[in-house]
Amino acid sequence: MISEREAREYVLERCAVGEVVETSIADAVGRVLAEPVVALEDVPPFVNTAVDGYAVRAADVAAAPVQLHVVAEVAAGWSTDRQLGPGEAIRIMTGAPMPAGADAAVMVEDTERLDNNEVLIRKSVPAGASVRAVGDDVPAGTALFPANTPIRPAVAGVLASVNASRVRVYRRPRVAVVSTGDELVDDGSPLRPGQIRESNKTMLLPLVAESGCEAIDLGVVRDDESALEAVLRGAASTCDAIVTSGGVSMGEYDVVKAVLSRIADMRWMQIAIKPAKPFAFGLLESDGRQVPVFGLPGNPVSSMVSFELFARPALRKMMGHTVLDRPTLLAVADHGLARRPDGRTAYMRVFGEFGPDGRYHVTSVGAQGSHQLAATSLANAMSIVPDGDGIEPGGSVVTMLLSIA
Ligand code: AMP
Ligand code: MG
Repeated sequence: MISEREAREYVLERCAVGEVVETSIADAVGRVLAEPVVALEDVPPFVNTAVDGYAVRAADVAAAPVQLHVVAEVAAGWSTDRQLGPGEAIRIMTGAPMPAGADAAVMVEDTERLDNNEVLIRKSVPAGASVRAVGDDVPAGTALFPANTPIRPAVAGVLASVNASRVRVYRRPRVAVVSTGDELVDDGSPLRPGQIRESNKTMLLPLVAESGCEAIDLGVVRDDESALEAVLRGAASTCDAIVTSGGVSMGEYDVVKAVLSRIADMRWMQIAIKPAKPFAFGLLESDGRQVPVFGLPGNPVSSMVSFELFARPALRKMMGHTVLDRPTLLAVADHGLARRPDGRTAYMRVFGEFGPDGRYHVTSVGAQGSHQLAATSLANAMSIVPDGDGIEPGGSVVTMLLSIA
């Protein structure tokens, strides 16, 4: 058995960052910047008001309550040439340009409109109150985002605000997912003796998509070497990575192993973790490209854990991310997490929640067998339980968050 760390390093070293492409902002969301972005425009582009109210001269309202004469109105998107003089106010809406001569705005809640275009200002405000300066969000010329910034929705919004309408990002990897096994049924037909329903690719496709890649469903391939070889070669020619499930352990009909050993440069691993001990990784050459192949074990829970620990970080690296792993924290195992010594680190599936004490508390989701996906499906975290007898009730355990909810 090799350590999880050795397996992970082996995989990561062989997965290269993808090509750089130019896209619209909308298409860039969920991807990663390949180059820094410098702001070419100020945000906001002109001095404007942060409130609905009246533009005033702070000196005029210093002795509030005072009455001013309303000489104009400016809404967002308008502008005015009317210069504000002493004793005057201009009705102004949030986001409208500040009129020349005004140096503060009073919110409408602190005013009362009177007859004859007069307004009573009830509160004094200092100069600069409720005024947004040019560039006080982003000054032109600022280095906004470094390369490798993930384009979250708010980052996309900022890119739009500075008119960076095209950005250079890493290509979204196309990732083929294929399930293998003569026993698998995925068309809803009645099960014949020995058959089971396919579940791995149904889980892996959205895991691939959730990791930010484009997931391509290659269906179920029978335990037939030539059929599998054709599917894998086809996938390598059109995709950037391949995820297979099943057929990588010690069985007589582990055809994934038979085929990939022949056509790809593979490493067959036994990793000191539970579940997901068998795992294969290698490169399949196609037109001069080296396409990473992740050979996940067939047992559904192992498939998921293996994807989380090895495939997901590698796919994130290919996308240009620098943070590859799920977050971990030190959790409290309220009821303990019992296990037996076996020379392996256990990734026990748990449900966790932050308690009023500010700590994250985890409880086992129950059945921990590598075929028992139903219990695992209730987990939102995995506690990393070192080899030994497990964690005592109330003990601390490093825990990887799979989702916050
Ligand atoms: P294998 O790694 O092919 O020996 O498969 C290990 C176990 O996982 C066997 O019980 C398989 O029936 C099961 N298995 C393999 N692939 C899938 C799949 N796509 N969906 C559900 N179970 C699977
Ligand atoms: Mg099989």
